[in-house]
Amino acid sequence: MSEGRLIVVSNRIPTEAAPSGGLVVALHDALKERGGVWIGNSGKRVAPEEAAKGLTRIAADPYERYSFDLTEEEHDGFYLGYANATLWPLFHHRTDLLEVDPDQARVYREVNERVAGLIAEVVRPGDVIWVHDYHFLPLAEALRRRGVANRVGYFLHIPFPNPSDMPALPERKLMPGWLSSFDLIGLQTKRDVSNALDFLRDNGAEILLRGRLKLDDRQFEVASFPIGIDVDGFIEAAEKNADAGEHLRLSPGERLVLGVDRLDYSKGLPQRFAAFGEYLSHRPDPQVRATLLQIAPPSRENVEAYKDIRQELETITGRVNGEMAELDWTPIRYIRRNIERDVLAGLYRRGDACLVTPLADGMNLVAKEFVAAQDGADPGVLILSHFAGAAEQMDAALMVNPYDPGETAKAIDQALSMPLHERQARHLSLMQSIRETDIDWWTRTYLAALQKPIAPVGN
Ligand code: UDP
Repeated sequence: MSEGRLIVVSNRIPTEAAPSGGLVVALHDALKERGGVWIGNSGKRVAPEEAAKGLTRIAADPYERYSFDLTEEEHDGFYLGYANATLWPLFHHRTDLLEVDPDQARVYREVNERVAGLIAEVVRPGDVIWVHDYHFLPLAEALRRRGVANRVGYFLHIPFPNPSDMPALPERKLMPGWLSSFDLIGLQTKRDVSNALDFLRDNGAEILLRGRLKLDDRQFEVASFPIGIDVDGFIEAAEKNADAGEHLRLSPGERLVLGVDRLDYSKGLPQRFAAFGEYLSHRPDPQVRATLLQIAPPSRENVEAYKDIRQELETITGRVNGEMAELDWTPIRYIRRNIERDVLAGLYRRGDACLVTPLADGMNLVAKEFVAAQDGADPGVLILSHFAGAAEQMDAALMVNPYDPGETAKAIDQALSMPLHERQARHLSLMQSIRETDIDWWTRTYLAALQKPIAPVGN
């Protein structure tokens, strides 16, 4: 039997011929290899008549790429609204920030219906459909209603919510049907799998075998596939850009602590800055100069909850710098702009430590990139939050509770005074773990699981 095509659906679609970025490159490679179709949102906002035109073919070779446009109302309700002001906070355990708006919920479902209709037009028997992330939870259910019987997989890049938070979602009763319409639900961590199984079991699903479930007349699977990075690609970029750190003009002996995160309340940035301030005020040797370089490109600025975080960070940066700076030293350097990944790779390599301290995070690729970029002979130290998905695999990092600035401050001190042999041993172990589940492993393993023949299990 010839293998059907792979149809990838994601919120945004790469528009350039040779896309960059780990996930995008991995999917690009998988599609290039077996042929297929990528469908995603163009990022353009258009009039309703324009949006109704459907898919635009933006590339035909080496695989087909189709985009669809959103109207202004769809962008507000689907993307800024339900996806990022309702689902995102719920899935990141921040129900205090969750917005409930029935219009946004309606638009979210309408966009999913519309996208399902577009997919139904291009899908052929034997094709395998792989849907990405929280923008498209109802997509498989909408496809099934249109008679699409193909294998449909889902990967959730962010955490699965705590089942006890679920009652905050007015549409919670729809969720089991949304999920069970997929054939395989891929999650980042075992913790996510356990939350998903608890939620589904509480809502009438029967657990058949490990990871295999039955709800009403559908059988489906839930399993973890921790996403990885292109390790060798990242090593190469870090070596090529090793001089990026020189732009910082650090004084001799000055230590560099890095932070790289989208400006998002889930990343624990105010707590991190407070911890760095605490480290500086209690450091045993006041002669030691450590600079925190925080790169934080803004995101979703039109969502209310994102406005406060920016303000909060600016206040705390001003306070720490005002208290601690010297004429020739600014302790926190805060860049609220995107830095190109190749340059980032070089900066990581110069870093003596990296603070990855989210309050909740699906995986956190920065943790893996920082490790890959190190010079194994003299590596920097990763400080990692228990609440990053990466924590399940990267326990050779210095693990911290991001809510406790005192503990994080101690970890910074420990990282900056760690003997070489311990840094090397931790780095070696971390390299092993990021190589084991790199980005190729992730695509291969997920797609193999999605396509494996289904053995009948009980009933
Ligand atoms: N990144 C970047 N430039 C920046 C900041 C971040 O290219 O200025 C990249 C970073 O290298 C990483 C990604 O953005 O690959 C962030 O992924 P992560 O999983 O850490 O967090 P997310 O933003 O997906 O929550």
